[in-house]
Amino acid sequence: MTRIASHRGGTLEFGDSTPQGFAATARMDLEEVEFDVHPTADGGIVVHHDATLDGTTDRTGEIAKLTLAEVQSAVINYGAGGHPLTLDDLCALYAGSRVNFRCEIKPGLGGRPYEDFVPKVIATLADKGMLERTSFSSFLVRSVNELAAATDRPRLWLVSPAVLRQLGPDVVIEVAQAHGIPEIGVHIDTADDALMERVTGAGLTFGCWAAHSPAQIEKALRLGVSVFTTDRPSLAISIRNQYRREITA
Ligand code: FE
Repeated sequence: MTRIASHRGGTLEFGDSTPQGFAATARMDLEEVEFDVHPTADGGIVVHHDATLDGTTDRTGEIAKLTLAEVQSAVINYGAGGHPLTLDDLCALYAGSRVNFRCEIKPGLGGRPYEDFVPKVIATLADKGMLERTSFSSFLVRSVNELAAATDRPRLWLVSPAVLRQLGPDVVIEVAQAHGIPEIGVHIDTADDALMERVTGAGLTFGCWAAHSPAQIEKALRLGVSVFTTDRPSLAISIRNQYRREITA
């Protein structure tokens, strides 16, 4: 069965990486909650998509250069007045949930991985009892490699449309295999049966991201990808329920 991951806690339904989106997702009939993490200047770990506060909150600044308290004082746009959560907060929110973590390791503002960040994220998840319920993702092969060195939890490489276009499927598969990456995820609009066959034929698991519209969600289900992320988790659940009824009818 294709798994559903609520992207950033369901951005189009609850705002981007908001406390209420993450709280709502924890109660949903889906498998994963996707979120992104960044370090603060004083050693905190914040759940936020962008490397800065500029685009989605009432504050500005680069998270890695702000204190945790400064980041926590930001109010998220379209987030019902909520503030960015810490990774600890998110772990507490999901301790009693059946929904598992899909943690994306983000780079800093310049697109470079944060130094010594992956082991801290893993240590926090382990400390809070969530590591065994976490899979990881990153657009950066280096970050996927850092994950492999630090944990045996599942990890996947997010392959952007530009990288897929520039490298082509065969080289993408070669890179994944050369780095021992067991799974890739592509944008739903770049996925098709032929690509999925090539990837799975090479022994890799194939997933998709950014399935937000009904047509994109239906496509992911019809392809039978392992998992897809969506900004509209409630919609995805209802479409998957309908799809299940149809294929069992
Ligand atoms: Fe993400």
